[in-house]
Amino acid sequence: MKQSKLLLNTLRESPGEAEAASHQLLIRAGFIRQLASGIYTYLPLGRRVLRKIEQIVREEMDAADAQELLMPAMQPAELWKESGRYSLYGPELIRLQDRHDREFALGPTHEEVITTLVRSEINTYRKLPVILYQIQTKFRDERRPRFGLLRGREFLMKDAYSFDMDWEGLDRAYWSMFHAYERIFQRCGLNFRAVEADAGAIGGVGETHEFMALADIGEDTVVTCSFCDYAANLEQAESDRVTFGSNKSLSSDELKQETGLEAEKFYTPNIRTIEELIENLHIDPAEILKTVVFLADDRAVAVVVSGSDEINEVKVKNYLKAASLSIADPDAVMKLTGVTTGFIGPKDLSVPVLVDQSVVHMTKAIAGANEKDYHFRNVNVRRDIPLNYVGDFRNVKEGEHCPRCKEGTFKFYRGIEVGHVFKLGTKYSEHLGAAFLDAQGESKQMIMGCYGIGVSRLLSAVIEQHHDEDGMIWPISIAPMQVHIIPVSAKDEVQMGTAWQVYDRLMEHGAEVLLDDRDERPGVKFKDADLIGLPIRIVVGKGAADGLVEFMERSQREKELITLEEAVERVKGLL
Ligand code: ATP
Ligand code: MG
Repeated sequence: MKQSKLLLNTLRESPGEAEAASHQLLIRAGFIRQLASGIYTYLPLGRRVLRKIEQIVREEMDAADAQELLMPAMQPAELWKESGRYSLYGPELIRLQDRHDREFALGPTHEEVITTLVRSEINTYRKLPVILYQIQTKFRDERRPRFGLLRGREFLMKDAYSFDMDWEGLDRAYWSMFHAYERIFQRCGLNFRAVEADAGAIGGVGETHEFMALADIGEDTVVTCSFCDYAANLEQAESDRVTFGSNKSLSSDELKQETGLEAEKFYTPNIRTIEELIENLHIDPAEILKTVVFLADDRAVAVVVSGSDEINEVKVKNYLKAASLSIADPDAVMKLTGVTTGFIGPKDLSVPVLVDQSVVHMTKAIAGANEKDYHFRNVNVRRDIPLNYVGDFRNVKEGEHCPRCKEGTFKFYRGIEVGHVFKLGTKYSEHLGAAFLDAQGESKQMIMGCYGIGVSRLLSAVIEQHHDEDGMIWPISIAPMQVHIIPVSAKDEVQMGTAWQVYDRLMEHGAEVLLDDRDERPGVKFKDADLIGLPIRIVVGKGAADGLVEFMERSQREKELITLEEAVERVKGLL
């Protein structure tokens, strides 16, 4: 294609609002344009990359016996009410009404639609198992759309759904999708890890993995073991129980033997935070019990961890089987406990206390005294605090021991979630009545799984991993086009003639080629070429008179003067 005809406007400056490298480059290189916050047009080059990714996804889905269909974005609210998600989904669900005041939603995901489809299309075990997928636009009114295509409000997703007669079948479908995902991300040139993820308290039946593209801009923390292959999202990563010993309260006999000092109240005027305690009392954060009051649905609970730890709200939420969890604001804390925030402690607190397993053996801890301007010292957790709810409520930390192999230690990375596989079980088939007759003529619920890939997010994730200060560096598998031919001077007939000759030869071999036929200064052309990052570049300059062209791979940056024929052979080798 002639570059002069391509709808392509490159920008020298980064747009002010773009923080992520991929977002800046997508705009500067003319791949996308924003229409509204989190809503983008894909320009020709961007669209071409999306199609390449879609093609890889299709090939791998088809190879795994999944069948493609296409479902509507606009979905009747009744379906969402039937599944119980109309209220649960909250403001992320975009709701609208038609002219007859009927309520609709724009699909953020398609469990409801696919399950009602399958319940009417399939009613016998003979037609199971089945995996159905689509590549389709999704709508989510994200609280913070950002980083360009990484978190949009309208975005492209591949979503697949499996229907099986039994749990073994679900397991097969799950791992077949898992392996297809590995191939898809490998083919896209992505550096990724599959990590164990949070299934949620009311989600599926446990097993779920997220596929994380490793990148500093990522919003997730990926925890990996240095020794075994355990890898998990920080939300999910288990902390090692065994090192903490027994988590029971002391028996009355043990209590008698327990020596040590009584818990003692002392005056700590206006010392409210962990930092203030550390500074004023010259103590280590690990000597402090940090207590935070939460509202879990409509219950109040307090969670206690060490002052050196962070509370993991996902773990707390799952432990309580709560649909929502939020930190209680100071007014709510006052109302619920009668105590000012900053002086809350687990001893004699009026709400249930969830105690992290790692603090159970603390014997001389500092904790809030549940009285303004006072703390306790010498708190002995097993003696002074009710241990009715002990569990893993903290974020693991880098360097601590892996609970699986007990050999390695944790290492952290940042990750972008590009895919998600999830065992749903019967959650939707139950609510929406998707049943089938088994070989014995008995009616059973279908066992489901769902599998998503953020197709448009993937485009950004690849750029996060493949760029330099001059622009994008496309892996050849998903590059918008593979070869960029740049005649140094558009006015030089020999150069232009040679450029078109190379072009024709490459097109014969099925290459996708962009020829920069613009009458621009060489510097401008090279800057644009660096920015859009096509993997192979052939520069036609003075050497053209001797049949020579300059060959370069965008990822290597080494230029070689070779003959036209050699250049064609090199490209063939790389395709
Ligand atoms: P996140 O935690 O990033 O919001 P999610 O858990 O809500 O993601 P899923 O519901 O599992 O995402 O959706 C499947 C895939 O769709 C995700 O793995 C991700 O790649 C992609 N995706 C989700 N939300 C967005 C978004 N707002 N913009 C672009 N892609 C998205
Ligand atoms: Mg989300």
